[in-house]
Amino acid sequence: MALELKDTLQLPKTDFPMRANLVQREPARLAHWETLGLYNRIQQKNSGTGKVFVLHDGPPFTNGDVHIGTALNKTLKDITLRYKSMRGFRTPYVPGWDCHGLPIEQKVARDLQEKKQTVTTAELRAKCDEFSESWIAKQTAQFKRLGVLADWKNEYKTKAPAFEADIMRTFAAFIEKDLVYRAKKPVYWSIPFETALAEAEIEYKDHTSIAIWVKFLVPTDEAKKFGLPTDKPLSFLIWTTTPWTIPANLAIAVNPEEEYATVRIGPAGDHHYLLFSKKLASKVLSDTKLAGPVSNPTNLPPNAIWDSRPSPLISKETQDGFHFSWVDIRLGKNLEKLVTRHPFIDRASPVVLANYVTMDSGTGCVHTAPGHGMDDYQTGLKYGLEIYCPVGADGKYLDDGRVPADLVGLTTLETVEDLEKKRTSPANIGVLKKLAATNTLLAKEKFIHSYPHCWRSKTPIIFRAVDQWFVGLDRADPSFESKGAAYSSTDKNVSTVGTWNTPRSQALREIINIAVNKGWIPAWGEARIRGAIESRPDWCVSRQRSWGVPIPAFYDANKKAYLDAGVARAIADKIEKLGTNFWYDATPEKILEGVKLPAGWPAPSALTCGRDTLDVWLDSGSSHAAVLARGQGGTQWPADLYLEGSDQHRGWFQSSLWTSVIARGHAPYKAVLTHGFIVDEDRKKISKSSSYEKPQTSDAYIGKLGADVVRLWISSQDFRDDIPISDEILGHVGETYRLFRNTFRYQISVLNDFDLARDAVPVGQMDTLDRWALNQTAALLRECTAAYETYEFHRVYQLCNQFCSVTLSATYHDILKDRLYTLAANSPLRRSSQTAIHHIFRTLVEILAPIVMFTTDEAWSFATDKIEYATGSVHLQDWPVAPAAWTNPEVDAEVAALLRVRAQVNEALEPARQAGHIGKSLDAAIILTIAPEDMAFKILEKHRDFLPELFIVSHVTLTPTANAPLSIGVRPAQELGHVRCPRCWRWVPALENTVHGDVCPRCVQALSLI
Ligand SMILES: [Zn+2]
Repeated sequence: MALELKDTLQLPKTDFPMRANLVQREPARLAHWETLGLYNRIQQKNSGTGKVFVLHDGPPFTNGDVHIGTALNKTLKDITLRYKSMRGFRTPYVPGWDCHGLPIEQKVARDLQEKKQTVTTAELRAKCDEFSESWIAKQTAQFKRLGVLADWKNEYKTKAPAFEADIMRTFAAFIEKDLVYRAKKPVYWSIPFETALAEAEIEYKDHTSIAIWVKFLVPTDEAKKFGLPTDKPLSFLIWTTTPWTIPANLAIAVNPEEEYATVRIGPAGDHHYLLFSKKLASKVLSDTKLAGPVSNPTNLPPNAIWDSRPSPLISKETQDGFHFSWVDIRLGKNLEKLVTRHPFIDRASPVVLANYVTMDSGTGCVHTAPGHGMDDYQTGLKYGLEIYCPVGADGKYLDDGRVPADLVGLTTLETVEDLEKKRTSPANIGVLKKLAATNTLLAKEKFIHSYPHCWRSKTPIIFRAVDQWFVGLDRADPSFESKGAAYSSTDKNVSTVGTWNTPRSQALREIINIAVNKGWIPAWGEARIRGAIESRPDWCVSRQRSWGVPIPAFYDANKKAYLDAGVARAIADKIEKLGTNFWYDATPEKILEGVKLPAGWPAPSALTCGRDTLDVWLDSGSSHAAVLARGQGGTQWPADLYLEGSDQHRGWFQSSLWTSVIARGHAPYKAVLTHGFIVDEDRKKISKSSSYEKPQTSDAYIGKLGADVVRLWISSQDFRDDIPISDEILGHVGETYRLFRNTFRYQISVLNDFDLARDAVPVGQMDTLDRWALNQTAALLRECTAAYETYEFHRVYQLCNQFCSVTLSATYHDILKDRLYTLAANSPLRRSSQTAIHHIFRTLVEILAPIVMFTTDEAWSFATDKIEYATGSVHLQDWPVAPAAWTNPEVDAEVAALLRVRAQVNEALEPARQAGHIGKSLDAAIILTIAPEDMAFKILEKHRDFLPELFIVSHVTLTPTANAPLSIGVRPAQELGHVRCPRCWRWVPALENTVHGDVCPRCVQALSLI
């Protein structure tokens, strides 16, 4: 029976939809994978290979929706792991969550405060746990929606009892190596709550303080030693807005590079000397009214006089008969170690140097109390000063035998009522009286400035040094293996030489070892982490918080601390079963029940439990011990890779390195890969704290674009730099996505009647163009594999984009249409091309599977089973291999030459098309004129029969002409007297009659096989 001609064509056919509808359809595929048990099946597939790749997950904090930056991080991990598992590696991936810490405790505490609820520590911790757990559930759903494949049932949480126990065991290792010590450090302190506050619990508000100018006398012998005047009293003049800290004064800080003036004040014979900043001299004299009433500024020595270097020294007599004269000017550094006397305590106060001393207020001579300020504390450490804090937890002066008796017990607290009535604290009043009595208070005035207040009590905080636990990073540990030999770094600037017996030298050695194996990716990561490790002061590991892992320290009635590695381990064992709430619920007797106490410990009944928690960086920094060393989810220690944002050189990479070298002697990772941050078009970081209108959550982007487009966008960017996001960039990525999807769809549709086992053509018997396409595919695979190996996913994106648009769409697929549609189904040429397309499809879809994982799996289902959800999955495939036969440089060179001519032919066709001489290119006949000695001629002649198909025209004449460069003539085929075949639309000299109608001889042959 005769068929309509169009029904005799082999037209492409597939149910693979043109429209992706990712937002609607991706969730169904996720559910399908869940049913398949995809994660476990992938692990099983590779369980016998003996190859393992452990990427250890850095835990996100559990207090909000997944940010697009976190989505970037998880996607890069997912792409890496999917690639590795296709390469035959078992890739156990245990996702983690960082659960403890201030942001959660603060949020929960604020909520409780708004509801006016008071709770016990254990109740607060339970609420924090609940809060963290609720976000873990939400984040899990959001990561899954992104397509992250992980061992979700084996996740790790830093708040899980077993994990908490391992954190404590890590700390026990620190104690065991004698690295843990106790020392004072200033913190923000809330007096009403008797607790340390974190920066986030501080509110800055205006506060009326009392500013005072105080004289610190220089003893005559000191003045003499420094060549300063000795005929009359000489004093340093300091300025402070916290009079109550004067009893804790231990030094005066000056800026080493600023000039300081010694000024003679008063008429000759009745004079004295003050020493302060030359730059601030006019202001000091005015503020202290030394130069007469401020209402009469003419009393002041003009700046011009003060600022020009006087030689000889200039003096000035004011209207009040006061004399000012320079007697000495010198740089601050030339005053170092001069010793002054405390104004009312029999104690020395030496001059120290500090670069933070500025010349914008005060006197340039800074009262320094290392127990009451961070800058002062650092200077105190530098000069070996005591971190002295004579103020108790209740804000009152202690009776420490050093605070004057009349000050003991006075409080530094200013209550809310005091603030309303503008009253200053009893401690301030007491100090002012002492200063007045010793005639050292030169001046005072009210001073309004922004000052930190406790967010709960609304009272001004004080800085107060409290005992903290530190880890000594430079303490020698005899248990470390001492190599003794010098070592060299890959960085020529590093000349570190030494032995390996301190945590810091151990960490530095590990950094170098990793660098030698090219494990810092990008390479500048080595310098970044070395800087962090080298500059880190001793690690203060204690926090005065509730939501964390307790420091297992005990105290006797005299506040003496007891800390022991064996005891810590025994408590860790209990915590593993009971959780850390045990520490807060139970008595010391109960906690220490059955624990062998070290010699010298009091009975448990005489002890109380410490209330400090460990720095949360120790939590996440212990994850390698709690997860990898325990083989959780099939992982192993050390990790092959840590992969996080580049801020983690100072964060998780660092804390993990410390805990690992101290507890295990080596780094917990073989390689560390970092990525940049997501920025908008203006290169501004899109962070959680910024107020951009741009959506910031992963779900916002997925809900609009689908996870595959988001993932494709992430892969398209060189993540070693910052990663820009804009509508324009996402628009381009959307186009690329459609290109990939259309490529898959086209290939599936033309393979509709192809069965590899039945129809495949061996490579050796394939058509030239098909062999060229396979050669191109082999090259694509080679380059993409290299790019994946070096984590250059953006190159995979570019290579595949180029391959689909140029190699396939504009060239190979375009040329093939004629043979695929019009030849008989079983024609060897058609089967040859289908064989090639089959291989290209498999290769391409597998190369892109780690990135566009939903769409490649969908395409795979339709290609293998002609249904949307097959029982197999592209994600269960091994990485494609290009057989050696695909690589064929000769064919590649020949076809490349032909394609160059094709490009010229296309250029020549365009004017004919525009002029209306031809419609489609098939309407054209081409006349190629070329010199016979031209290399191209030989190739053109060799492939003469193929040329019409290659150019997609109806007829090609090849005319060798001596000395002629290639020229191309275009004529409508009709002018040659040809007729168009109604089936294949090619113009031929004559048609032949069949039952289906008149067609060209080639179509006759195709029809005869129906
Ligand atoms: Zn035909």
